[in-house]
Amino acid sequence: MSKLSQEELLTDDGIRNDGRRVDEARPFEVEVGVLTQANGSALVRQGKNVILAGVMGPYEAERHSQYLDRAVLKVRYHMQPYSTNDRKSPTYSRREMELSRAIREALEPAVILTDLPRTEIDVFIEVLQADGGTRCASVNAASVALADAGIPMKDLVTAVAIGKIRDTLVIDINDLEDENGQADFPIAMMPNKDKITLLQMNGLLDEAEIKKSIDMARGVIGSLYTIQVNALKKKYTPLAVSKEG
Ligand code: ADP
Repeated sequence: MSKLSQEELLTDDGIRNDGRRVDEARPFEVEVGVLTQANGSALVRQGKNVILAGVMGPYEAERHSQYLDRAVLKVRYHMQPYSTNDRKSPTYSRREMELSRAIREALEPAVILTDLPRTEIDVFIEVLQADGGTRCASVNAASVALADAGIPMKDLVTAVAIGKIRDTLVIDINDLEDENGQADFPIAMMPNKDKITLLQMNGLLDEAEIKKSIDMARGVIGSLYTIQVNALKKKYTPLAVSKEG
């Protein structure tokens, strides 16, 4: 694909290639408990990204991999070959391995691992369709799936990627913006605690841009968080009401 110019990505009127403004996130939808056999699950749509997260556990960990004082959290991020416009090789890649680690590190501060000694919790993430920012959409799906599995947590984790186009910071970048823009800055937070759990940077941002990116992300993360919480409430509120009644 030929490279797009900065002007094609962001017009003089501040409109992006998909019609959004610089501070406008993509549509975000969360469905909880979409699988019956997994202990917890969530399906997230963030723009054209479609991500399924399934959680197994907590279950007693194998002797050689268990900790006496806490649970082990494992994360596997996998992209389907049909999820991208160029067919992705079905072989598990180094990128998938690295993203699995980044996603685990983003989730781990929110999970109260010490409540579940000797156990293992597995998070399986399937990218069914990818359009930039899949690690963020995966964090959003996985944290809801962990909550759906009843895993004790301090907070959900919510993520969004900031980019830079035409020297302007833009929120929630898509694949075209990621590929042709000047930066990709994924940020994950525990919104209720106002704690950052993931910061990764591809490209160059100065100190003022980093601070502004975090502020922009914080605002959008608040809205995404409300959608995650409402999706969980939608599944669990009827249960609470029927227990009381
Ligand atoms: P993220 O998805 O978190 O932004 P990357 O920056 O590595 O992670 O990937 C950016 C985008 O590039 C992905 O969301 C996806 O749309 C596309 N992509 C990633 N890997 C491949 C691949 N192997 N083949 C084709 N497209 C890919």
